[in-house]
Amino acid sequence: MSLYDLVVIGGGPGGYVAAIRAAQLGLKVACVEGRGALGGTCLNVGCIPSKALLSSSAKFESLSHLAGHGIAVDGATLDLGAMMGRKEKIVGDLTKGIAFLFKKNGVDLIEGWASIPAPGKVQVGDDVFETKNILIATGSEPTPLPGVEIDEVDVVSSTGALSLANVPEHLVVVGAGVIGLELGQVWSRLGAKVTVVEYLDRILPGIDGEIAKLAQRALSKRGLKFQLGRALKSIDKGDEGLTLTLDRVGKDKEEQLQADKVLIAIGRRPVIRGLGLEALGVSVNGRGFVEVDERFATSVPGIYAIGDCVPGPMLAHKAEEDGVACVEMLAGEAGHVDYGTVPGIVYTDPEVASVGVTEEALKEAGTDYVVGKFTFMANSRARAQGETDGAVKVLATPEGKILGAHICGAHGGDLIAELVLAMTKGATVSDVAAACHAHPAMAEAVKEACLDAMGRAIHA
Ligand code: FAD
Repeated sequence: MSLYDLVVIGGGPGGYVAAIRAAQLGLKVACVEGRGALGGTCLNVGCIPSKALLSSSAKFESLSHLAGHGIAVDGATLDLGAMMGRKEKIVGDLTKGIAFLFKKNGVDLIEGWASIPAPGKVQVGDDVFETKNILIATGSEPTPLPGVEIDEVDVVSSTGALSLANVPEHLVVVGAGVIGLELGQVWSRLGAKVTVVEYLDRILPGIDGEIAKLAQRALSKRGLKFQLGRALKSIDKGDEGLTLTLDRVGKDKEEQLQADKVLIAIGRRPVIRGLGLEALGVSVNGRGFVEVDERFATSVPGIYAIGDCVPGPMLAHKAEEDGVACVEMLAGEAGHVDYGTVPGIVYTDPEVASVGVTEEALKEAGTDYVVGKFTFMANSRARAQGETDGAVKVLATPEGKILGAHICGAHGGDLIAELVLAMTKGATVSDVAAACHAHPAMAEAVKEACLDAMGRAIHA
Protein backbone atom coordinates (compact mmCIF):
# COMPACT_ATOMS: atom_id res chain seq x y z
CA MET A 1 0.00 0.00 0.00
CA SER A 2 1.54 3.31 -1.06
CA LEU A 3 2.34 6.00 1.49
CA TYR A 4 0.71 9.31 0.70
CA ASP A 5 1.82 12.76 1.84
CA LEU A 6 -1.83 13.79 2.00
CA VAL A 7 -5.20 12.06 1.82
CA VAL A 8 -8.09 14.49 1.40
CA ILE A 9 -11.50 13.25 2.55
CA GLY A 10 -14.20 14.89 0.43
CA GLY A 11 -14.11 15.96 -3.22
CA GLY A 12 -16.05 19.24 -2.91
CA PRO A 13 -14.60 22.66 -3.79
CA GLY A 14 -12.55 22.64 -0.60
CA GLY A 15 -11.21 19.12 -0.98
CA TYR A 16 -10.67 18.82 -4.72
CA VAL A 17 -8.96 22.22 -5.00
CA ALA A 18 -6.72 21.37 -2.02
CA ALA A 19 -5.82 18.03 -3.61
CA ILE A 20 -4.88 19.60 -6.95
CA ARG A 21 -2.87 22.42 -5.33
CA ALA A 22 -1.04 19.92 -3.08
CA ALA A 23 -0.15 17.79 -6.12
CA GLN A 24 1.11 20.91 -7.93
CA LEU A 25 3.36 21.54 -4.93
CA GLY A 26 4.88 18.08 -5.32
CA LEU A 27 2.98 16.14 -2.65
CA LYS A 28 1.74 12.60 -3.29
CA VAL A 29 -2.00 13.04 -2.90
CA ALA A 30 -5.22 11.02 -2.90
CA CYS A 31 -8.78 12.31 -2.58
CA VAL A 32 -11.60 10.14 -1.24
CA GLU A 33 -15.16 10.86 -2.35
CA GLY A 34 -18.21 8.83 -1.43
CA ARG A 35 -21.04 10.32 -3.51
CA GLY A 36 -19.93 8.85 -6.86
CA ALA A 37 -19.09 12.22 -8.43
CA LEU A 38 -16.55 14.93 -7.69
CA GLY A 39 -17.48 18.55 -6.99
CA GLY A 40 -19.25 18.11 -3.66
CA THR A 41 -22.42 19.91 -2.69
CA CYS A 42 -21.47 22.88 -4.83
CA LEU A 43 -21.34 21.16 -8.20
CA ASN A 44 -23.85 18.38 -7.62
CA VAL A 45 -26.66 19.89 -5.55
CA GLY A 46 -25.64 23.47 -4.77
CA CYS A 47 -24.08 26.45 -6.51
CA ILE A 48 -24.09 25.14 -10.06
CA PRO A 49 -27.50 23.46 -10.49
CA SER A 50 -29.14 26.38 -8.67
CA LYS A 51 -27.46 28.90 -10.96
CA ALA A 52 -28.40 26.83 -14.04
CA LEU A 53 -32.06 26.92 -12.98
CA LEU A 54 -31.87 30.59 -12.02
CA SER A 55 -30.57 31.34 -15.49
CA SER A 56 -33.17 29.23 -17.32
CA SER A 57 -36.05 30.52 -15.22
CA ALA A 58 -34.91 34.14 -15.71
CA LYS A 59 -35.02 33.65 -19.48
CA PHE A 60 -38.52 32.18 -19.27
CA GLU A 61 -39.78 34.97 -17.04
CA SER A 62 -38.16 37.70 -19.13
CA LEU A 63 -40.48 36.79 -21.99
CA SER A 64 -43.33 38.39 -20.10
CA HIS A 65 -41.45 41.71 -19.92
CA LEU A 66 -40.55 42.05 -23.56
CA ALA A 67 -43.67 44.00 -24.54
CA GLY A 68 -42.13 47.16 -23.06
CA HIS A 69 -39.21 46.70 -25.48
CA GLY A 70 -41.65 46.51 -28.37
CA ILE A 71 -41.31 42.74 -28.74
CA ALA A 72 -44.35 40.47 -28.74
CA VAL A 73 -43.84 36.84 -27.77
CA ASP A 74 -46.86 34.60 -28.08
CA GLY A 75 -47.28 31.00 -27.11
CA ALA A 76 -44.05 30.47 -25.15
CA THR A 77 -44.28 27.22 -23.21
CA LEU A 78 -42.18 25.62 -20.52
CA ASP A 79 -40.51 22.22 -21.01
CA LEU A 80 -39.41 21.56 -17.44
CA GLY A 81 -37.87 18.21 -18.37
CA ALA A 82 -35.60 19.88 -20.93
CA MET A 83 -34.70 22.61 -18.43
CA MET A 84 -33.72 19.99 -15.86
CA GLY A 85 -31.81 18.06 -18.54
CA ARG A 86 -29.76 21.15 -19.35
CA LYS A 87 -28.97 21.60 -15.65
CA GLU A 88 -27.93 17.95 -15.31
CA LYS A 89 -25.68 18.15 -18.36
CA ILE A 90 -23.89 21.21 -16.96
CA VAL A 91 -23.37 19.40 -13.64
CA GLY A 92 -22.19 16.20 -15.37
CA ASP A 93 -19.72 18.03 -17.62
CA LEU A 94 -18.23 20.00 -14.72
CA THR A 95 -17.87 17.01 -12.37
CA LYS A 96 -16.17 15.01 -15.16
CA GLY A 97 -13.90 18.01 -15.68
CA ILE A 98 -12.59 17.63 -12.12
CA ALA A 99 -11.85 13.93 -12.69
CA PHE A 100 -9.81 15.04 -15.72
CA LEU A 101 -7.95 17.63 -13.60
CA PHE A 102 -7.13 14.93 -11.05
CA LYS A 103 -5.57 12.79 -13.79
CA LYS A 104 -3.70 15.75 -15.23
CA ASN A 105 -2.23 16.67 -11.84
CA GLY A 106 -1.58 13.12 -10.64
CA VAL A 107 -4.16 13.07 -7.83
CA ASP A 108 -5.39 9.55 -7.02
CA LEU A 109 -9.18 9.33 -6.73
CA ILE A 110 -10.41 6.81 -4.17
CA GLU A 111 -14.13 6.16 -4.47
CA GLY A 112 -16.04 5.34 -1.28
CA TRP A 113 -16.80 6.62 2.21
CA ALA A 114 -13.76 7.22 4.38
CA SER A 115 -13.10 6.92 8.08
CA ILE A 116 -9.97 7.61 10.11
CA PRO A 117 -9.13 4.54 12.23
CA ALA A 118 -5.96 6.25 13.55
CA PRO A 119 -3.81 9.30 12.74
CA GLY A 120 -1.92 8.50 9.53
CA LYS A 121 -4.55 6.02 8.31
CA VAL A 122 -7.64 6.45 6.14
CA GLN A 123 -9.96 3.52 5.67
CA VAL A 124 -12.27 3.13 2.67
CA GLY A 125 -14.17 -0.16 2.66
CA ASP A 126 -11.59 -2.84 3.45
CA ASP A 127 -8.65 -0.76 2.24
CA VAL A 128 -6.50 1.22 4.65
CA PHE A 129 -4.31 3.94 3.15
CA GLU A 130 -1.20 5.18 4.97
CA THR A 131 -0.62 8.91 4.83
CA LYS A 132 1.52 11.54 6.54
CA ASN A 133 -1.38 14.00 6.68
CA ILE A 134 -5.17 13.85 6.50
CA LEU A 135 -7.38 16.72 5.37
CA ILE A 136 -11.04 16.55 6.37
CA ALA A 137 -13.13 18.38 3.75
CA THR A 138 -16.43 16.60 4.25
CA GLY A 139 -18.62 19.68 3.86
CA SER A 140 -22.19 20.15 4.97
CA GLU A 141 -25.82 19.09 4.50
CA PRO A 142 -29.23 20.75 4.97
CA THR A 143 -30.17 21.31 8.61
CA PRO A 144 -33.36 19.42 9.40
CA LEU A 145 -36.23 21.06 11.28
CA PRO A 146 -37.21 19.08 14.38
CA GLY A 147 -40.63 17.47 13.93
CA VAL A 148 -40.66 17.95 10.14
CA GLU A 149 -39.94 14.98 7.91
CA ILE A 150 -38.17 15.83 4.66
CA ASP A 151 -39.35 13.22 2.13
CA GLU A 152 -37.81 15.05 -0.88
CA VAL A 153 -41.18 14.73 -2.67
CA ASP A 154 -43.67 17.02 -0.92
CA VAL A 155 -41.42 18.43 1.78
CA VAL A 156 -38.03 19.00 0.21
CA SER A 157 -34.58 20.23 1.09
CA SER A 158 -32.60 22.32 -1.39
CA THR A 159 -31.62 19.04 -3.09
CA GLY A 160 -35.24 18.11 -3.80
CA ALA A 161 -36.11 21.67 -4.79
CA LEU A 162 -33.50 21.48 -7.58
CA SER A 163 -35.34 18.56 -9.21
CA LEU A 164 -39.10 19.00 -8.77
CA ALA A 165 -40.99 17.06 -11.45
CA ASN A 166 -43.66 19.74 -11.87
CA VAL A 167 -44.08 23.42 -11.14
CA PRO A 168 -45.91 23.55 -7.78
CA GLU A 169 -49.05 25.60 -7.46
CA HIS A 170 -48.03 26.96 -4.09
CA LEU A 171 -44.50 26.49 -2.79
CA VAL A 172 -43.84 27.56 0.78
CA VAL A 173 -40.18 28.23 1.49
CA VAL A 174 -39.24 28.03 5.14
CA GLY A 175 -36.21 30.25 5.69
CA ALA A 176 -35.49 33.60 3.99
CA GLY A 177 -31.76 32.99 3.62
CA VAL A 178 -29.71 32.73 0.44
CA ILE A 179 -30.80 29.24 -0.62
CA GLY A 180 -34.50 29.75 0.15
CA LEU A 181 -34.67 33.00 -1.80
CA GLU A 182 -32.74 31.70 -4.82
CA LEU A 183 -34.80 28.52 -5.16
CA GLY A 184 -38.01 30.36 -4.28
CA GLN A 185 -37.37 32.75 -7.14
CA VAL A 186 -36.65 29.89 -9.57
CA TRP A 187 -40.10 28.35 -8.97
CA SER A 188 -41.84 31.71 -8.79
CA ARG A 189 -40.47 32.60 -12.23
CA LEU A 190 -41.69 29.27 -13.58
CA GLY A 191 -45.23 30.01 -12.42
CA ALA A 192 -45.56 28.86 -8.79
CA LYS A 193 -47.06 31.05 -6.11
CA VAL A 194 -44.20 31.28 -3.59
CA THR A 195 -44.54 32.29 0.06
CA VAL A 196 -41.40 32.68 2.13
CA VAL A 197 -41.88 32.08 5.85
CA GLU A 198 -39.13 33.40 8.13
CA TYR A 199 -38.69 33.28 11.91
CA LEU A 200 -36.93 36.66 12.07
CA ASP A 201 -38.60 39.96 11.24
CA ARG A 202 -36.30 40.45 8.25
CA ILE A 203 -34.91 38.51 5.31
CA LEU A 204 -31.26 37.60 4.65
CA PRO A 205 -29.93 37.52 8.21
CA GLY A 206 -26.32 38.67 8.35
CA ILE A 207 -26.69 41.00 5.35
CA ASP A 208 -26.71 44.77 5.89
CA GLY A 209 -30.28 45.56 7.01
CA GLU A 210 -30.86 48.47 4.62
CA ILE A 211 -29.75 46.40 1.62
CA ALA A 212 -31.85 43.43 2.78
CA LYS A 213 -34.89 45.74 2.88
CA LEU A 214 -34.21 46.87 -0.69
CA ALA A 215 -33.94 43.22 -1.70
CA GLN A 216 -37.21 42.32 0.02
CA ARG A 217 -39.00 45.17 -1.72
CA ALA A 218 -37.62 44.15 -5.12
CA LEU A 219 -38.36 40.44 -4.61
CA SER A 220 -41.91 41.26 -3.49
CA LYS A 221 -42.36 43.32 -6.67
CA ARG A 222 -41.32 40.22 -8.63
CA GLY A 223 -43.97 38.09 -6.94
CA LEU A 224 -42.47 36.53 -3.81
CA LYS A 225 -44.73 36.80 -0.75
CA PHE A 226 -43.10 37.15 2.66
CA GLN A 227 -44.50 36.09 6.01
CA LEU A 228 -41.91 37.25 8.54
CA GLY A 229 -41.85 36.66 12.30
CA ARG A 230 -43.35 33.18 11.92
CA ALA A 231 -42.06 29.84 13.12
CA LEU A 232 -43.09 26.61 11.41
CA LYS A 233 -44.61 24.32 14.02
CA SER A 234 -45.83 21.38 11.98
CA ILE A 235 -46.78 20.16 8.52
CA ASP A 236 -49.80 17.89 8.10
CA LYS A 237 -50.38 15.93 4.91
CA GLY A 238 -53.97 15.51 3.77
CA ASP A 239 -56.01 15.02 0.59
CA GLU A 240 -55.93 18.76 0.01
CA GLY A 241 -52.15 18.91 0.16
CA LEU A 242 -50.01 20.20 2.99
CA THR A 243 -51.23 22.27 5.92
CA LEU A 244 -48.55 24.25 7.70
CA THR A 245 -49.13 25.49 11.21
CA LEU A 246 -47.15 28.64 11.96
CA ASP A 247 -46.54 30.35 15.28
CA ARG A 248 -46.50 34.16 15.23
CA VAL A 249 -43.22 34.89 17.00
CA GLY A 250 -43.74 36.86 20.24
CA LYS A 251 -47.54 36.63 19.92
CA ASP A 252 -49.72 33.91 21.31
CA LYS A 253 -51.20 33.20 17.91
CA GLU A 254 -51.19 30.38 15.38
CA GLU A 255 -51.84 30.56 11.67
CA GLN A 256 -52.33 27.98 8.95
CA LEU A 257 -51.05 27.96 5.42
CA GLN A 258 -51.89 25.54 2.59
CA ALA A 259 -49.25 24.43 0.13
CA ASP A 260 -48.54 21.64 -2.28
CA LYS A 261 -44.75 21.72 -1.73
CA VAL A 262 -42.62 22.96 1.14
CA LEU A 263 -38.92 23.74 0.91
CA ILE A 264 -37.09 23.65 4.22
CA ALA A 265 -34.10 25.98 3.87
CA ILE A 266 -33.15 26.95 7.41
CA GLY A 267 -29.41 26.51 7.04
CA ARG A 268 -26.71 23.88 6.72
CA ARG A 269 -24.81 21.80 9.23
CA PRO A 270 -21.39 20.17 9.05
CA VAL A 271 -21.03 16.53 7.96
CA ILE A 272 -18.54 14.58 10.09
CA ARG A 273 -20.42 11.41 10.94
CA GLY A 274 -18.69 8.12 10.34
CA LEU A 275 -15.20 9.61 10.35
CA GLY A 276 -14.45 8.42 13.88
CA LEU A 277 -13.44 11.86 15.15
CA GLU A 278 -14.64 11.30 18.69
CA ALA A 279 -12.50 8.18 19.16
CA LEU A 280 -9.51 10.05 17.74
CA GLY A 281 -10.02 12.97 20.12
CA VAL A 282 -10.53 15.58 17.37
CA SER A 283 -12.22 18.62 18.99
CA VAL A 284 -15.61 19.53 17.61
CA ASN A 285 -17.56 22.59 18.79
CA GLY A 286 -21.11 22.62 20.16
CA ARG A 287 -22.59 23.05 16.68
CA GLY A 288 -20.70 20.09 15.23
CA PHE A 289 -17.96 22.02 13.39
CA VAL A 290 -14.40 20.70 13.55
CA GLU A 291 -12.22 23.12 15.53
CA VAL A 292 -9.03 24.25 13.79
CA ASP A 293 -6.23 26.75 14.38
CA GLU A 294 -4.92 29.32 11.89
CA ARG A 295 -3.02 26.54 10.07
CA PHE A 296 -6.25 24.47 9.78
CA ALA A 297 -4.77 21.93 12.21
CA THR A 298 -7.25 20.05 14.39
CA SER A 299 -6.49 19.04 17.96
CA VAL A 300 -4.85 15.83 16.64
CA PRO A 301 -1.44 16.22 14.94
CA GLY A 302 -1.44 15.36 11.24
CA ILE A 303 -5.21 15.89 10.85
CA TYR A 304 -6.43 19.12 9.25
CA ALA A 305 -9.90 20.38 8.30
CA ILE A 306 -11.27 23.02 5.91
CA GLY A 307 -14.41 24.29 4.20
CA ASP A 308 -18.00 23.94 5.35
CA CYS A 309 -17.13 21.50 8.14
CA VAL A 310 -15.09 24.15 10.02
CA PRO A 311 -16.45 27.42 11.49
CA GLY A 312 -16.78 30.37 9.10
CA PRO A 313 -18.83 31.33 6.06
CA MET A 314 -20.26 28.22 4.33
CA LEU A 315 -19.28 29.22 0.81
CA ALA A 316 -17.56 27.37 -2.01
CA HIS A 317 -14.90 30.04 -2.64
CA LYS A 318 -14.09 30.22 1.08
CA ALA A 319 -13.68 26.42 1.13
CA GLU A 320 -11.29 26.70 -1.86
CA GLU A 321 -9.27 29.45 -0.19
CA ASP A 322 -9.05 27.36 3.00
CA GLY A 323 -7.87 24.34 1.01
CA VAL A 324 -5.18 26.17 -0.91
CA ALA A 325 -3.85 27.97 2.18
CA CYS A 326 -3.82 24.74 4.20
CA VAL A 327 -1.83 22.68 1.69
CA GLU A 328 0.53 25.56 0.89
CA MET A 329 1.44 25.68 4.58
CA LEU A 330 1.77 21.88 4.64
CA ALA A 331 4.20 22.16 1.73
CA GLY A 332 6.26 24.72 3.64
CA GLU A 333 4.93 27.80 1.86
CA ALA A 334 3.06 30.79 3.30
CA GLY A 335 -0.71 30.40 3.10
CA HIS A 336 -3.25 32.94 4.21
CA VAL A 337 -7.00 33.61 3.96
CA ASP A 338 -8.36 37.09 4.66
CA TYR A 339 -11.77 36.24 6.10
CA GLY A 340 -12.62 39.95 6.30
CA THR A 341 -12.82 40.14 2.52
CA VAL A 342 -14.77 36.99 1.61
CA PRO A 343 -17.68 38.13 -0.56
CA GLY A 344 -21.15 36.61 -0.29
CA ILE A 345 -23.63 36.72 -3.16
CA VAL A 346 -27.33 35.98 -3.43
CA TYR A 347 -28.05 35.23 -7.09
CA THR A 348 -31.66 36.40 -7.11
CA ASP A 349 -32.93 39.20 -9.31
CA PRO A 350 -31.83 41.67 -8.13
CA GLU A 351 -28.59 40.17 -6.86
CA VAL A 352 -27.44 40.92 -3.34
CA ALA A 353 -23.70 41.05 -2.78
CA SER A 354 -21.69 41.97 0.25
CA VAL A 355 -18.19 42.05 1.66
CA GLY A 356 -16.87 43.16 5.02
CA VAL A 357 -18.88 44.53 7.90
CA THR A 358 -22.48 45.70 7.98
CA GLU A 359 -23.66 49.07 9.28
CA GLU A 360 -25.35 47.28 12.20
CA ALA A 361 -22.01 45.71 13.21
CA LEU A 362 -20.23 49.09 13.04
CA LYS A 363 -22.91 50.70 15.22
CA GLU A 364 -22.74 47.86 17.73
CA ALA A 365 -18.95 48.11 17.92
CA GLY A 366 -19.14 51.92 18.30
CA THR A 367 -16.81 52.38 15.32
CA ASP A 368 -16.67 55.80 13.60
CA TYR A 369 -17.69 55.42 9.98
CA VAL A 370 -19.00 57.22 6.93
CA VAL A 371 -21.56 55.89 4.46
CA GLY A 372 -21.63 56.37 0.71
CA LYS A 373 -24.68 55.31 -1.31
CA PHE A 374 -25.78 55.41 -4.88
CA THR A 375 -29.07 54.16 -6.24
CA PHE A 376 -29.27 52.36 -9.58
CA MET A 377 -32.26 54.55 -10.47
CA ALA A 378 -29.69 57.30 -11.11
CA ASN A 379 -27.40 55.07 -13.19
CA SER A 380 -27.90 55.43 -16.92
CA ARG A 381 -26.96 51.83 -17.85
CA ALA A 382 -29.46 50.55 -15.27
CA ARG A 383 -32.10 52.82 -16.81
CA ALA A 384 -31.28 51.64 -20.33
CA GLN A 385 -31.56 48.02 -19.24
CA GLY A 386 -34.66 48.56 -17.12
CA GLU A 387 -32.82 47.24 -14.06
CA THR A 388 -33.10 50.16 -11.68
CA ASP A 389 -33.91 48.41 -8.40
CA GLY A 390 -31.38 48.63 -5.59
CA ALA A 391 -28.28 50.57 -4.63
CA VAL A 392 -24.60 50.38 -3.79
CA LYS A 393 -23.64 51.13 -0.18
CA VAL A 394 -20.06 51.59 0.96
CA LEU A 395 -18.97 51.86 4.58
CA ALA A 396 -15.60 53.42 5.35
CA THR A 397 -13.58 54.97 8.15
CA PRO A 398 -13.69 58.79 8.21
CA GLU A 399 -10.21 58.58 6.54
CA GLY A 400 -11.72 56.51 3.69
CA LYS A 401 -10.54 52.95 4.44
CA ILE A 402 -13.28 50.65 3.16
CA LEU A 403 -14.79 48.51 5.92
CA GLY A 404 -17.71 46.98 4.08
CA ALA A 405 -19.64 47.18 0.83
CA HIS A 406 -23.16 46.02 0.10
CA ILE A 407 -25.01 45.95 -3.18
CA CYS A 408 -28.56 45.14 -4.13
CA GLY A 409 -28.94 45.33 -7.88
CA ALA A 410 -28.56 43.67 -11.25
CA HIS A 411 -25.04 42.22 -11.64
CA GLY A 412 -24.26 43.09 -8.00
CA GLY A 413 -22.35 39.81 -7.73
CA ASP A 414 -19.90 41.01 -10.39
CA LEU A 415 -19.76 44.61 -9.17
CA ILE A 416 -18.70 43.58 -5.67
CA ALA A 417 -15.40 42.19 -7.04
CA GLU A 418 -14.02 45.72 -7.46
CA LEU A 419 -14.69 46.48 -3.80
CA VAL A 420 -13.29 43.11 -2.67
CA LEU A 421 -10.07 43.91 -4.52
CA ALA A 422 -10.04 47.42 -3.06
CA MET A 423 -10.42 46.06 0.47
CA THR A 424 -7.84 43.31 -0.11
CA LYS A 425 -5.29 45.86 -1.28
CA GLY A 426 -6.18 48.46 1.35
CA ALA A 427 -7.49 50.91 -1.26
CA THR A 428 -9.63 53.78 0.04
CA VAL A 429 -12.92 55.15 -1.29
CA SER A 430 -10.92 57.92 -2.95
CA ASP A 431 -8.68 55.32 -4.67
CA VAL A 432 -11.76 53.58 -6.10
CA ALA A 433 -13.38 56.87 -7.06
CA ALA A 434 -10.16 58.01 -8.77
CA ALA A 435 -10.23 55.00 -11.12
CA CYS A 436 -11.77 55.72 -14.53
CA HIS A 437 -15.06 53.79 -14.81
CA ALA A 438 -16.50 53.24 -18.29
CA HIS A 439 -19.77 54.89 -19.22
CA PRO A 440 -22.51 53.80 -19.29
CA ALA A 441 -21.89 50.97 -16.83
CA MET A 442 -23.48 49.62 -13.67
CA ALA A 443 -19.99 49.93 -12.12
CA GLU A 444 -20.32 53.71 -12.19
CA ALA A 445 -22.66 53.24 -9.22
CA VAL A 446 -19.69 51.83 -7.26
CA LYS A 447 -17.61 54.89 -8.12
CA GLU A 448 -20.49 57.23 -7.21
CA ALA A 449 -21.05 55.47 -3.86
CA CYS A 450 -17.35 55.96 -3.08
CA LEU A 451 -17.60 59.63 -4.13
CA ASP A 452 -20.67 59.96 -1.91
CA ALA A 453 -18.70 58.59 1.06
CA MET A 454 -16.30 61.50 0.45
CA GLY A 455 -19.23 63.96 0.20
CA ARG A 456 -18.52 64.46 -3.52
CA ALA A 457 -21.23 62.52 -5.41
CA ILE A 458 -21.86 63.95 -8.88
CA HIS A 459 -25.10 62.30 -9.94
CA ALA A 460 -26.93 62.08 -6.60
P1 FAD B 1 -18.94 19.99 0.07
O1 FAD B 1 -19.11 20.71 -1.21
O2 FAD B 1 -20.15 19.71 0.88
O3 FAD B 1 -18.18 18.65 -0.27
C1 FAD B 1 -17.92 17.67 0.68
C2 FAD B 1 -17.82 16.34 -0.02
O4 FAD B 1 -17.33 15.39 0.91
C3 FAD B 1 -19.16 15.79 -0.51
O5 FAD B 1 -19.09 15.51 -1.88
C4 FAD B 1 -19.39 14.53 0.31
O6 FAD B 1 -19.99 13.50 -0.44
C5 FAD B 1 -17.96 14.15 0.67
N1 FAD B 1 -17.87 13.37 1.91
C6 FAD B 1 -18.43 13.64 3.11
N2 FAD B 1 -18.08 12.71 4.02
C7 FAD B 1 -17.27 11.84 3.37
C8 FAD B 1 -16.59 10.67 3.77
N3 FAD B 1 -16.64 10.23 5.02
N4 FAD B 1 -15.89 9.99 2.84
C9 FAD B 1 -15.83 10.42 1.55
N5 FAD B 1 -16.44 11.53 1.12
C10 FAD B 1 -17.14 12.24 2.02
N6 FAD B 1 -21.74 28.56 -2.16
C11 FAD B 1 -21.25 29.57 -2.88
O7 FAD B 1 -20.13 30.01 -2.62
N7 FAD B 1 -21.95 30.12 -3.91
C12 FAD B 1 -23.19 29.69 -4.23
O8 FAD B 1 -23.81 30.20 -5.16
C13 FAD B 1 -23.75 28.62 -3.48
N8 FAD B 1 -24.97 28.16 -3.78
C14 FAD B 1 -25.46 27.10 -3.08
C15 FAD B 1 -26.72 26.63 -3.41
C16 FAD B 1 -27.26 25.56 -2.73
C17 FAD B 1 -28.63 25.04 -3.11
C18 FAD B 1 -26.50 24.92 -1.70
C19 FAD B 1 -27.04 23.73 -0.98
C20 FAD B 1 -25.24 25.39 -1.37
C21 FAD B 1 -24.71 26.49 -2.05
N9 FAD B 1 -23.46 27.01 -1.73
C22 FAD B 1 -22.97 28.06 -2.44
C23 FAD B 1 -22.63 26.46 -0.63
C24 FAD B 1 -21.53 25.55 -1.20
O9 FAD B 1 -22.12 24.51 -1.92
C25 FAD B 1 -20.67 25.01 -0.07
O10 FAD B 1 -20.19 26.09 0.70
C26 FAD B 1 -19.48 24.25 -0.62
O11 FAD B 1 -19.90 23.18 -1.41
C27 FAD B 1 -18.60 23.74 0.53
O12 FAD B 1 -17.53 23.02 0.00
P2 FAD B 1 -16.82 21.86 0.82
O13 FAD B 1 -15.77 21.33 -0.08
O14 FAD B 1 -16.45 22.33 2.16
O15 FAD B 1 -17.96 20.74 1.05
